[in-house]
Amino acid sequence: MLRKTLVLALVLLLAALLLPAQERVDLNVVHKIKTEELGPDSKVMDTIYNLTDRYGPRLTNSPQFRAAGDWAVGQMKEWGLSNVHLEKWATPKDNPIPSWQLVSYNGAMVEPTYMSIIGVPVAWTAGTNGPVTAEAVLATVQSPADMEKWHGKLAGKIVLTVAPPELAFPTEPLAHRYTPEELTEMATELIPTGAGGRGGRGGGRFAAMGNMSMEQFREFQQKMRSFWKDEKVVATLTTNARAQSGTLFGGGAQNRMDTTNTPQISVAAEHYNRIARLVEHNVPVKLMFDIKTQFDTSNTDSFNVIGEIPGTTKPNEVVMVGGHFDSWHYGTGATDNGAGATVAMEVARILKHLNLKMDRTVRVALWGGEEEGLLGSRAYVKEHFADPETMKPTAEHANLSGYFNIDNGTGRLRGIYLQGNEMVRPIFATWFAALKDLTPGVITIRNTGGTDHLSYDAVGLPGFQFIQDPMDYETRTHHSNMDVYDRIQPADMKQMAIVEASFVYNTATRPDKLPRLDLPAPQPAGGRGGRGGRGQ
Ligand SMILES: [Zn+2]
Repeated sequence: MLRKTLVLALVLLLAALLLPAQERVDLNVVHKIKTEELGPDSKVMDTIYNLTDRYGPRLTNSPQFRAAGDWAVGQMKEWGLSNVHLEKWATPKDNPIPSWQLVSYNGAMVEPTYMSIIGVPVAWTAGTNGPVTAEAVLATVQSPADMEKWHGKLAGKIVLTVAPPELAFPTEPLAHRYTPEELTEMATELIPTGAGGRGGRGGGRFAAMGNMSMEQFREFQQKMRSFWKDEKVVATLTTNARAQSGTLFGGGAQNRMDTTNTPQISVAAEHYNRIARLVEHNVPVKLMFDIKTQFDTSNTDSFNVIGEIPGTTKPNEVVMVGGHFDSWHYGTGATDNGAGATVAMEVARILKHLNLKMDRTVRVALWGGEEEGLLGSRAYVKEHFADPETMKPTAEHANLSGYFNIDNGTGRLRGIYLQGNEMVRPIFATWFAALKDLTPGVITIRNTGGTDHLSYDAVGLPGFQFIQDPMDYETRTHHSNMDVYDRIQPADMKQMAIVEASFVYNTATRPDKLPRLDLPAPQPAGGRGGRGGRGQ
């Protein structure tokens, strides 16, 4: 009998050794992470206060961006992280990023009657050199023919450069959480689709631009860059249909180093439309702007903020967690992407504070220059892992297990995008199973684009972005003047920190590194073959 039992035990042991190791989750650790973050010691709202109200906005290379970077370094050191530093990278030689900031803004319609204008000057545009009052003209320029039409007629004017948008009556709720049906649709998809994925982007023709070829379009864009300046326009105004009820959206000027870029103001749609209607009715309109901006073109280097928790048994192997640190300057960069940067910092704080032993090194990376085209993460990946142009991996490339990114606002994590890496599905499914009280853990084969995980994906490294509830990101906060602290949802922030901390811990402690896709083919310079994309 004893002998039989022994034989059975041996057979079972052998079977266990031969079977692939089952993905294991340390439920005690998950419990500790939850308790830490849901208790009184959570620091997410304190961190986001500092990144927004105190040091924001964080437009790449602006004085506020640099001050916020110094604050983040100090904070991570205080939490006991190792190797905390600002890692420098150079902004593109053909269009460097200067230090620019908005110093003051005052805008109003002064004739036929007074109206204070809700507006924010666009990044890297010049000021007005004192108050200027000038006549408003509606001159949409969308083709070389339009340019010809307006040539010589705009000197000394303030130009409304887009057609007044029609403002639909809002019948949809401003904010949205994914419904079970929407999540099921994502989970059951079979073929990877979605923005910014691996599919190529065709040349095509630009129907909206008078059916120009790509070549003609580039030439037109080139001319547009200096058109307003060449025509001696005082300032230009823009808006769009989403810019309603006091919320406005903006980006940046094309030539970032040109300190003489014509002043450009992104304006609330209702104010823009009032001015446009008066002009269309041939009522003379005078506008006054007094804008002060500041350029410093002497230092165009930028940085990523880096900090680590060293691994215990495999310190050379690395798990990375991050999000972009830079923002636009219209609000304070709360949901884009104070949220993702804060959660990455909080993940490191929790793991460090709990003093968890992790085999691999956990590295936090907060990127600069994401809004200008994933510049910080691309520079980092090129420096540390591989140049996508040559696709020759470094030794560090083999040692990176995975990268986790958050950059879709304040909404809680409902799952994760696989980026076509079906091999990680069963692994992530087990990890999510331990978090069922917090997230449905939807796993979709879908790709998602627009942010820094793409820099990893581009060189064959497992980089992931989570699925987040959309909230009021598209309608209200994304690149808007209302991207501020109050749009941050504390409970969602804590949920994100718990889920991401668990994923990072699991990646740092599972026996093997995460399975990865094959190395992609080299991508020639200038080619925007699928895996690239602009910042989000
Ligand atoms: Zn973003």
